[in-house]
Amino acid sequence: MSAIPSLKKNHLYRLPWSANDNPIGWVEVTDICNIKCEGCYRLIMGDGHKSLEQIKSEIYFMKKWRNCDNISLAGGEPILHPDIIDIVGFIKFLKMKCVILTNGYALNDSMISQLKKAGLTGFSFHIDTTQIRPEFKKKKIESEMNLSDLRLHYAKMACKAKVNASFGITVHAENYNEVPEFIQWAINNSNLVSGISLITHRMMPTKGITYFANGKEVNVGADSLGYTSENNSSNETPAITSKDLYSLIKSHFPGYEATSYLGGTEDHTSFKWLIGNMIVDKRGRIYGGYGKKAMELIQTFHHFFNGSYLVYPNRKVGKAILLLSPFDKFLRKAFLNIIKQGLKNPIRFFKPLNVLGIGIIQAPDILPDGKIDMCDDCPDMCLHEGKMVNSCRLDECRIYGSFLEPRIQKTQEKPIDPILN
Ligand code: SF4
Repeated sequence: MSAIPSLKKNHLYRLPWSANDNPIGWVEVTDICNIKCEGCYRLIMGDGHKSLEQIKSEIYFMKKWRNCDNISLAGGEPILHPDIIDIVGFIKFLKMKCVILTNGYALNDSMISQLKKAGLTGFSFHIDTTQIRPEFKKKKIESEMNLSDLRLHYAKMACKAKVNASFGITVHAENYNEVPEFIQWAINNSNLVSGISLITHRMMPTKGITYFANGKEVNVGADSLGYTSENNSSNETPAITSKDLYSLIKSHFPGYEATSYLGGTEDHTSFKWLIGNMIVDKRGRIYGGYGKKAMELIQTFHHFFNGSYLVYPNRKVGKAILLLSPFDKFLRKAFLNIIKQGLKNPIRFFKPLNVLGIGIIQAPDILPDGKIDMCDDCPDMCLHEGKMVNSCRLDECRIYGSFLEPRIQKTQEKPIDPILN
């Protein structure tokens, strides 16, 4: 097997998304949830559900000031909000796509068809071994692959209603080696699954660090936030990064290509968002992927013709992506593979192809000097008291009135393990 090329920024397209022109608007409709995920970064505060009026004004803000292509409805569990259908309808009314981030548990066929009618584009399902789920009588599931049938159940429900389904897992030391199997599951079901996301697990350690908010020292204990713990609670040392996941995926699926990234706000060697893809058929054959040039053309053309950048493209784009082959060497390679396979069995020329998106997110890291490396031009910012804040750290603002500023205590010898999920 040939050596896996290391990730280099000049081989990738830096997504042109910014704080003011970003395809994603993140709107949290509720704090309330029906299951428990380890490292969940949302505490229940106040009444739990936001009012419909407040939610509409946040959505409108995202449209007007952030120029979004899509609103991601998050929480808590958004499906539990009593006005969820109206919320989706309002997003459609403002001519944006709408994706709901859900654990799936409260969904049924009737709810999905009402959401579809209201204008829902897709679900991003979070189903993984960090959860204690009612479907398994609250027993901890040890292997990601034991959740494949449950994921398939939700993928089929979404597909029946013609709604996209993508699946995300939090990656930590215990399930890291299962990532290739999880991807293989998505490839085998690419007619139902539009993409997957892999989010590296992070906690905010309280040992060896003093925290300040608004310039004053604050007492942060292991249970102060959903993502604080005495130490980084996962066993990985050092923490799993996007680069690790890229190498792992590439070593199992040589056809996988990374196209684009967002870097870190402090560490210029980090890849906080790494977007990649594979072109696959229904039988799980991988033909390759598209590269940075195709991604640049997709973003530029979408902005030129629609006025906003693109996120969550339709997986059914299939063979149409090949039109960009003259401009993208990875796509030309995939095109040649399709021709070769078609010459072996001409029926394959008529079979549909799907593009499976693979998103890797490396959550914030505390650096040895105490600075926090966030995602540059964070796509998942939400509105809090009139200001945009990174949704992964919203509870710091809600509890302490500002982001926490860590100061590493002098006795600390080793670099700190990083924060949050
Ligand atoms: S900074 Fe936090 S909220 Fe923003 S994209 Fe990164 S992990 Fe998500």
